Amino acid sequence: MNNNIERLKELIDSHHNIVFFGGAGVSTESNIPDFRSASGLFNEKLNRNFTPEQLVSHTFFMRYPEEFFKFYKDKLIYEDANPNKAHIALAKLEDMGKLNAIITQNIDGLHQKAGSKNVLELHGSIHRNYCTKCGKFYDLEDMLNLGNIIPHCDVCGGIVKPDVVLYEEALDNGIVNETVNALSNADLLIIGGTSLVVYPAAGFIDYFDGNSIVLINKSTTSYDQKASLVINDSIGDVLSKAIL
Ligand code: ZN
Repeated sequence: MNNNIERLKELIDSHHNIVFFGGAGVSTESNIPDFRSASGLFNEKLNRNFTPEQLVSHTFFMRYPEEFFKFYKDKLIYEDANPNKAHIALAKLEDMGKLNAIITQNIDGLHQKAGSKNVLELHGSIHRNYCTKCGKFYDLEDMLNLGNIIPHCDVCGGIVKPDVVLYEEALDNGIVNETVNALSNADLLIIGGTSLVVYPAAGFIDYFDGNSIVLINKSTTSYDQKASLVINDSIGDVLSKAIL
């Protein structure tokens, strides 16, 4: 472990355009379960058998909005969650002028809460919500205050939809372009808290053209061979020891 931290420190010292690519494992250390485990709990409670992908699909949102919002509000929103050591270390790395972008699959906004500025949210954010009819914007608190299970716009009555990319929905083009740019210009890529099996994560990594990849994940991934350094440990522990 300590040798790995030293090696990570050296890599950070010797690179100046670092990009971090993160997944659910970054937020589980803030006690936010990934949606796959959350869906298990939800099914148990309802005595149903929806797959995790079904629960967060566009079809499900359209056909069963009540069940969608029950799951969404109960299992995907953690209003009181706080940034952990990983978020804080990455914000510091950006402050130091080393980190150019954070690319995240998480929707919880914890990187911004920790102070990070250039955060590319591939899957959107729970903090932005828009009326599907008139487009009125609601932040998280406003959306939750609309009452009832399905949030209806207080102007036109339309359903207010979280700005979260559901299965069957396309990623935002602007974010995709920025992600590809950030990756193709980076000299060091740190990947953390993701097993890289879920589309589109693995596909994006191929745009990275720099010389070193660091993988920090509790379990092994299919990208381990491509990495200069693999650390199978807590992302919060590793990043805070190397950066803070
Ligand atoms: Zn409206």
